Amino acid sequence: MPIRFFNTLTRTKEVFEPIAAPHVGLYTCGPTVYNFAHIGNLRTFLFEDLLRRHLKYRGYQLQHVMNLTDVEDKIIRTCRETGESLKSLTGRFAQAFFEDLDTLGVERAEIYPAATDHITEMVDIIKKLRENGHTYEANGSIYFKLSSFPQYGQLSKFKLDELKTNASGRVDSDEYETEDARDFALWKAYDDDDGAVFWETELGKGRPGWHIECSCMSMKYLGESFDIHCGGIDNMFPHHENEIAQSEAATGKRFVKYWLHSAHLFVDNRKMSKSLGNFYTLRDLLAKGHDPIAIRWALISTHYRQPSNFTFEGLEAATESLRRVRDFRRRLEEVRIAGDGLGELDASCEKAFGDALDDDLNISGAIAAVFDFIREVNKLIDSEVTGKGGAERALALLDRVNTVTGLFGAGAKEETPAEILALVTERQQARRAKDFKRADEIRDQLLGAGWVLEDTPDGPRVKKA
Ligand code: AMP
Ligand code: ZN
Repeated sequence: MPIRFFNTLTRTKEVFEPIAAPHVGLYTCGPTVYNFAHIGNLRTFLFEDLLRRHLKYRGYQLQHVMNLTDVEDKIIRTCRETGESLKSLTGRFAQAFFEDLDTLGVERAEIYPAATDHITEMVDIIKKLRENGHTYEANGSIYFKLSSFPQYGQLSKFKLDELKTNASGRVDSDEYETEDARDFALWKAYDDDDGAVFWETELGKGRPGWHIECSCMSMKYLGESFDIHCGGIDNMFPHHENEIAQSEAATGKRFVKYWLHSAHLFVDNRKMSKSLGNFYTLRDLLAKGHDPIAIRWALISTHYRQPSNFTFEGLEAATESLRRVRDFRRRLEEVRIAGDGLGELDASCEKAFGDALDDDLNISGAIAAVFDFIREVNKLIDSEVTGKGGAERALALLDRVNTVTGLFGAGAKEETPAEILALVTERQQARRAKDFKRADEIRDQLLGAGWVLEDTPDGPRVKKA
């Protein structure tokens, strides 16, 4: 089955055909580094991580670029309010961002360019747009003239001629709503509110607009036309629409072939956002004692185009799923009888898993395929059909599906002493021999030693009392 993605540009699921297979150029809008990322932001980065890992699993060679937005309106406002320098503020939060990625097991992109390292390249694109007649100047700032680019609106599907009657003038701020769409700033002339944040360039003293940052860094590292561009759905307008306008007006080429956008994470049915104050950071959840991989599970297990409501019950359910996986892995490691006895279960699971992800990253289908496998293999272990060889193949399958999802690994080892494991095995034998008196004695003996034994559908499980 070919890979298919829902392309926001055409609003349809399309077969994925990269421009120069097996190479894939992927650009994902990165964090604005003035604060800790909230788990809504992280949901988007985890969707992009799943996309990246699946493409690699399917044999593509990735050039994945994620920018760091280290100059824009909100950052400058924070510097003004706190007195901290731009470099110090953005350096601190860029570091915190990478720590969060590591904690969640997010794979690193190939390149993380920072906007402030690319001012010269941005100036070059703005000059090119000026030469091509797409800009005008007002009060020292340079604006993109929407009327010079009749294709404007191709991504957000709103019409330029309607816009012309509804709105006029220009907009200086980096973020705005559809109804405010106007000529937007490519270069912002310095004003006193900018404090120490400015560059002296051929365009005058000032700083770039947010949108030109992504046009510049994506084309620098991926070429003027590339395969996939992602972000959260709030990035579609105006940010991505403006990126298309700037890039295509500068090069005359199609900018991006596939646009993929993830839906928002909500809390109490409102979008999680810093301005509403209804957000959790990863650190908030870790401080409450949650396992980072359970958090990863909770954030990626809803399909990326489906809005997802964050709840602690959902996080508990994810923790339980993770526990099942880890118990299963432990059980496989403990199979002692000889032989294989796994049949084709691993191959059929992997096929269903891969097919699901090929279908626009259907993660629920992929997870369901692995849980079907766990259920079937548990039955085979119960009836002593699957032996050590089969158990090893089952573990190898879990490792392979783990490279794509990051959900099916071993986790930190919880050491159970050998004598306790020996008692658990003895009790299993007693139960199989229908010697329930002996089985109960062993359970009490375990409890006396400080271990609680539970019988679960996946076999017995011991944990510290
Ligand atoms: P920012 O750091 O604000 O530039 O956002 C980083 C990424 O997070 C962008 O791709 C946003 O679209 C995305 N994002 C922001 N809020 C949410 C949310 N509540 N749920 C999912 N993604 C979000
Ligand atoms: Zn961007």
